Amino acid sequence: MRPSIFRLARTFALRGWVNNNGEGVDIVVCGEPDNLALFKKMLLAEAPPLSKIEKLNVVPWPDNKTCELPEEFEIRASKTETAIIEPTLGCDAALCENCKRELNDPGNRRYGYAFANCTDCGPRFSIATSLPFDRKNTSMDDFPLCELCKAEYENPFDRRFHAQAICCPQCGPQLSLVDANGEKVSCGEKKISEAARLLNQGKILAIKGLGGFHLACRADNEAAIAALRQRKHRPGKPFALMALDVVQVREYVSVCEAAEQCLQSVQAPIVLLSKLTAENRKSLPTVLAPGQQKLGFMLPYTPLHLLLMQEIQVPLVMTSGNRQGEPQCLDNAEALEKLKGIADYFLLHNRRIVQRLDDSVVMPAAASTSSLRRARGYVPELLGERKDLFRDREILAMGGEQKNTLCWVRNNRPLLSAYVGDLYQVETFKSYQQNIARYQHTFQFRPTLIAVDKHPGYHSTQEGRKIAERYDLQLVEVQHHHAHIASCMLENNVSLQDGKVLGIVLDGSGYGEDNSVWGGEFILADYKTAERCGHFQQVALPGNEQAVLEPWRNVYAHLHAMDWDKICSEFGSLECIRQLNKKNLKLIASLIDKQLNSPLSSSAGRVFDTAAAMLGVCFDKITFEGEAAMQLEALAYSHFSPETSKPYPFGIQDARINWQPLWISILRDLKVNKPKAEIAARFHQTIARAVCDLATVLCAQHGVSRVALSGGVFQNALLLSACHYHLQRSGLRVLDHKVVPANDGGIALGQAVVAAQH
Ligand code: ZN
Ligand code: ZN
Ligand code: FE
Repeated sequence: MRPSIFRLARTFALRGWVNNNGEGVDIVVCGEPDNLALFKKMLLAEAPPLSKIEKLNVVPWPDNKTCELPEEFEIRASKTETAIIEPTLGCDAALCENCKRELNDPGNRRYGYAFANCTDCGPRFSIATSLPFDRKNTSMDDFPLCELCKAEYENPFDRRFHAQAICCPQCGPQLSLVDANGEKVSCGEKKISEAARLLNQGKILAIKGLGGFHLACRADNEAAIAALRQRKHRPGKPFALMALDVVQVREYVSVCEAAEQCLQSVQAPIVLLSKLTAENRKSLPTVLAPGQQKLGFMLPYTPLHLLLMQEIQVPLVMTSGNRQGEPQCLDNAEALEKLKGIADYFLLHNRRIVQRLDDSVVMPAAASTSSLRRARGYVPELLGERKDLFRDREILAMGGEQKNTLCWVRNNRPLLSAYVGDLYQVETFKSYQQNIARYQHTFQFRPTLIAVDKHPGYHSTQEGRKIAERYDLQLVEVQHHHAHIASCMLENNVSLQDGKVLGIVLDGSGYGEDNSVWGGEFILADYKTAERCGHFQQVALPGNEQAVLEPWRNVYAHLHAMDWDKICSEFGSLECIRQLNKKNLKLIASLIDKQLNSPLSSSAGRVFDTAAAMLGVCFDKITFEGEAAMQLEALAYSHFSPETSKPYPFGIQDARINWQPLWISILRDLKVNKPKAEIAARFHQTIARAVCDLATVLCAQHGVSRVALSGGVFQNALLLSACHYHLQRSGLRVLDHKVVPANDGGIALGQAVVAAQH
């Protein structure tokens, strides 16, 4: 901020100074009134891309206070001793237009240099070891500045004035290209061209990027993609893609305005976009995202990625560079060891990655976007100050078990950590512990209150208990779905005075107040209290975790709760019933009847699995979380409309939704060979209508007018749009997620705000 203010003040011949005050900047200016007015206007209009002006207070210099103005405008040292210091650290930002131009200008000294950056772009959090963000506190400290870079760094009129990661081909990081044995590939200085050549040949490359490694291959090479799937033991989960620019993205998927902005934003996340259905579309092999209707695209966000994409005419698969169940590799030696057998070649560099940052993922929703995975580009941005809610407490919230993130609160502002992952994976749990230590160290957090999920088995809960005991801190347990709702309320600026909302949480699972597994919940909540006032009818989960992995178990559990013999006699010819009859149903029935390892659950996720399996989607098993529901959504996509799709019957009694009429209707439609896409569309409408009908009744009963939608099932864009449509028609105000993920990646924030009330 300071250099841009400096340049502006000099432009308008103003005298005065600017300094950091810990919360922002103080500017003192003196000059012609017209120039002062222009200065103020331009200050807002021409603020640097990575700055954020939350407030601009203008006050006249007090009459009773003397002021010695310097001859010319100057930048003064920070007044650290007087101010409350809220250490802020920027987010890693995508390559800016100026750097992009220089990169492709043969006359520029950074022509073709893979690590060019400036004050408007480049690495920040990913290279920071501690605060403040000065070069000596980053991994760029390994690279002493050359004379030319030093001059730019010290010149207030240069774009790279005080650019902490400044470097050039003479003094900065360098690329290397090696084979699977770590032997150098001979290609002189043309590492990127050689890497492109290998990719064009169908090879798989491990590429060290900004916040971790990617595994890359050409997105139009079916054999390479299949090999990558096999070597990575990742049979079905969609691969993310990188395209050169929006024009290239448009060849494959439809890009709305919000999506285009998002692709080109400084955060440069992966954006989930619907495949084109037009005749003239280009298509990519289905093995990229089997059974899916969407592809995830991002644009090159570092010079390295841009230079590579410029050499290749098609999108690249860019999936995270890790072994199955482990976090992304961060350093060269680790990658060479762990990705051996997966990657044929390694494009490496010698700038250390300090903080792992996965690519962020968003989806277009309701003329905006909503976050599915929040990491690179978005972290460590602080969320807004809420003194009313956080009451000056310093909090660490431990998050959930899956898609874990952590949340710290200080000075009443929450910091949500980058996506960590699933904590039941040993390596991910280690990285979770390292993350706690690293954030504590980097930001000097001193929490006095620890918030955890109520689930005693969550690794995050156990870790939180240990920390609370070790440092004798207060511990607050927060119910899973209450945390979901609170995170949604917070991001929608609900205040303490606003009273209660009806939270609708559609989720895979979560530990309920009655020790059963919740997941299709209607909860009357404010930040302090949560009262379950409606839910999906509970059904057994035969085999518990096994039932999550094998959708057919849920089909049987739902039908077993009805009259299985009657269903067999009426629908025995259907494929799904025939397949069920091949399973050991006696065993499953006895598990359910004797309540052995078969907890009751109101999970919405399992209702989606049941419908999918009935239609033959992922009947036997899923290979990643949410697979069945995602494929069901893809199947319904072209047939679904919130206005016209007809719901199947369902039952609501005592604020419980009963899906038995739905299941019978689906079986009947299957029997008369109705198209599966149509059944899938009507299924989505049924869920939306049932949820909205019950919500409308509950809102009237309890006198609330706002509903908050949360939980991972709301990542389903069809369901989300249908719920919006029906709830709004009932005159209810809908709060949903934009910034914070609806899935368990958001619950740490909710835990923090609920815990602060206790
Ligand atoms: Zn730049
Ligand atoms: Zn240099
Ligand atoms: Fe959840």
